[in-house]
Amino acid sequence: MTARLEAVRAKVAERELGALLVSNLVNLRWLTGFTGSNGAAVVGAETARFVTDFRYLTQAAAQLDPVWEREIETDLLKRVTDGLPDGPLKLGFDDAHVTVAQHARLERLIGERDIELVAAGAIVEQLRAVKDPDEIERIRAAAELADEAFEEVVGAGIVGRAERDVALDLEVAMRRRGAEGASFPPIVAAGAHGALPHAVPRAVPIPAGTLVVIDWGAQLDGYASDCTRTVATAGDLDPRDREIYDTVLAAQEAALAAVRAGPTGQEVDAVARAIIDDAGHAEHFGHGLGHGVGMEVHEGPRLSKQGKDALVAGNIVTVEPGIYVPGAGGVRIEDLVAVTADGHEVLNGLPKALRTVH
Ligand code: ZN
Ligand code: ZN
Repeated sequence: MTARLEAVRAKVAERELGALLVSNLVNLRWLTGFTGSNGAAVVGAETARFVTDFRYLTQAAAQLDPVWEREIETDLLKRVTDGLPDGPLKLGFDDAHVTVAQHARLERLIGERDIELVAAGAIVEQLRAVKDPDEIERIRAAAELADEAFEEVVGAGIVGRAERDVALDLEVAMRRRGAEGASFPPIVAAGAHGALPHAVPRAVPIPAGTLVVIDWGAQLDGYASDCTRTVATAGDLDPRDREIYDTVLAAQEAALAAVRAGPTGQEVDAVARAIIDDAGHAEHFGHGLGHGVGMEVHEGPRLSKQGKDALVAGNIVTVEPGIYVPGAGGVRIEDLVAVTADGHEVLNGLPKALRTVH
């Protein structure tokens, strides 16, 4: 945790700020280990202040390294600004999280002091995109737990069951194995419903002889996992479904092979997109190839046409191409992958050959 404090300090210096206010709770947890629901930190070259309210007095003492100066106050912003020097000071804040109302209040609390509020962009998010070995192990554990839940629920048979019951069972199976919960509401989408990339599971029985897209993940120990498998239910499968599956699998495996430190998210996205385009499905792959996963299920870096950043060792990303044919059906195959210096490591373990389930 103190390595993270030093990393933030280096960024604060690089951006020529005097201090950075960290108010987003996920960023705060990453930085300090604090898991409560109310808190803020101020990080400067010499300072490491942490403010929370009375309810978290004991918890903060247990969770934070002694390097943090802990302060207890109900009104966080008042305490944050009361503790600032008279200036001159450039105080960075995270413009993606601080609301307009909070910004106005900060201005009022600063008053006549020579303190400038500076939009500091996503300093902590950029650091969070590169995971340390402990974080990689936690994400791997979440992925393995999610794999086991899938085996339990899907292995027991899904034909004739409502999509939403299967989704609920996945959540319960993950919770029973120790997950804090699902990292997002699971998607279970059969037949034509699978053509909606973010389908909401319905109270409709899953038929025989169709494809079913299942996208789920666990939240474990503060970290998320994310995986998709498309399975076939026993019965006569439309040959077109099989063809789409084979195309998505080829695209997924080719893009996966391209994941390593060096290429940009855009370049890896293009590998999958070329295969899907060549198969005549260019207009049926309308989302990006993947996204970063960490404490949140969607974070940086992006693997998409907009992904300008080069992948670096320590990134954890999904590789999830899909083909969605409106009115007919869809296929998506998603793996969760750690980027290494010379390649990658897939963190989930379920096979990808088209599996037929009952
Ligand atoms: Zn997913
Ligand atoms: Zn995903």
